[in-house]
Amino acid sequence: MRLTFYGGVNEIGGNKILLEDGERRLFLDFGFPYKRHKLFYEEYLKPRPGAGLLDPLTMGLLPPLAGLYRDDLVTPGLWKQFEDFPLYRELERVDDVLLTHAHLDHSGYISFLKPDIPVYSTAVTAFIAKAMQDSGKSGFDQSVCYFNPVAWDCPDGWKQPALVSDSRTPRQQRQFCIADRAPENLSADAIQFWTSGFWGKTARQKELVSCPLKDHGSSGFGLLCFPVDHSIPGACAWGIETVSGWVIYSGDLRLHGKHSGLTRKFIEEAAKLRPRALILEGTNVGRDTNVTEREVYDNALKVISRAKGLVIADFSARDVDRLLTFLQIAKDTGRKLAIMPKDAYLLKTMHLLEPETPEIAQESSLVVYQDTIASKSPAIWMRNLCKEYESKIVLAEDVRSAQDKLMPSFSFMDINELPSIRPKPGSLYVFSSSEPHDEEQEIDFRRLHEWLKHFGIKGFGLPVEKNGEWKIPEEEKGLHASGHACGPDLLSVVHSIRPEIMIPVHSEKPEFYVDKLKGSGIEVRVPEAGGVVEV
Ligand SMILES: [Zn+2]
Repeated sequence: MRLTFYGGVNEIGGNKILLEDGERRLFLDFGFPYKRHKLFYEEYLKPRPGAGLLDPLTMGLLPPLAGLYRDDLVTPGLWKQFEDFPLYRELERVDDVLLTHAHLDHSGYISFLKPDIPVYSTAVTAFIAKAMQDSGKSGFDQSVCYFNPVAWDCPDGWKQPALVSDSRTPRQQRQFCIADRAPENLSADAIQFWTSGFWGKTARQKELVSCPLKDHGSSGFGLLCFPVDHSIPGACAWGIETVSGWVIYSGDLRLHGKHSGLTRKFIEEAAKLRPRALILEGTNVGRDTNVTEREVYDNALKVISRAKGLVIADFSARDVDRLLTFLQIAKDTGRKLAIMPKDAYLLKTMHLLEPETPEIAQESSLVVYQDTIASKSPAIWMRNLCKEYESKIVLAEDVRSAQDKLMPSFSFMDINELPSIRPKPGSLYVFSSSEPHDEEQEIDFRRLHEWLKHFGIKGFGLPVEKNGEWKIPEEEKGLHASGHACGPDLLSVVHSIRPEIMIPVHSEKPEFYVDKLKGSGIEVRVPEAGGVVEV
């Protein structure tokens, strides 16, 4: 059994691990490599959609594996240019992709894969991936669930051919296989959302298929899906039975979240398999402790309950636990939480599968913020959503006239709304997310501080620069519960599962495991980028 690590090595995210076991070949995640992408690209310099796979292959964002990608993205003579690349290979067939969760650093580059390679995931992950695509930016690298094919063509008067949208070929869908529940247990509304969208035929999607995971595929080997707790609903780990024994792949996980029971159950079940290998994330190996969601609630409530003017809450709404934390704080402080339309779309989607997710129409402390757009025709989903929640829409002027009654959930990218809102001096910006990871994010924080200064808004929990380092001030810490387990928790995962071989991924410090597992009887193998680990 061979594992090839095409991503997630010495980087947080971009996981793409090829598992080959005799005739069987599958990928563990196929994520977007943020770190490598940012080395070369920025907002106004991106891989050229018209050049198809050429840019991401040349720049090392995608592995040069002929036979793996969408045929319509393969430009004439493409593979000839990559035959001398050390990682070049022809892949005859890939059976499937096992997706752990809907964060783009795990799912994003599924966009490029052949549509007939089925994607195995939990129902929640499949639905969130679709909600993100329906309500997100369009683009050739944002097409996890469906895509519009392109064709090699030249517009009139142009000599350079390029891949341009091909209106003759209908939109294509990817096959998702649901690992954690049978489609017949999904509601009619859920099926309708998946196959044709909330409001009719906007984004048709292939039928959902349920997968008998035991005796998977033609090989007859077992496959197990373990739900785990992470900062997005629906996350799971995978167990794959191979000729060399069970391989466990953790995806991203934590032991300190609201649903830590899931992760504990996974550890217990995985240990019972006496696995040969454990592929484990290591995002937060450098941290010794965790902040819990309960602490986030307590700390944020303390500062928000004292606020007199507007409160802006900056958190990732895809982290539904965090959204519920701030919804509770809004209730406890007599405010309404105003979420952005795309976040409302996600909640509406989640409600289809998890009935305990608040229903926007029924939740008196939840409203939808309609921002300023410069277009006569907003996206169809946005129009439909705003029509459905008409009585729940608030505009900038509503926020302006009731600043102590509302709490918009904005990120830095929504800060442009402030000139319309005109927050009163003394308003509060509560930051409940992670610290900057790179220079670009540091520049954004610098700008955010300028915005707050300009409007006389007090920031809380915001990283500040001190001696070239960006840190949250000690007295303002505790507003973010990470999606990832800290070092001691990760070690307890390894010791409890007790694999023969441990392989660190999704980490900038994989040698942590080498140091800490010395003498434990567990062999740590640190993969190289594009390297092979034989088991
Ligand atoms: Zn993640």
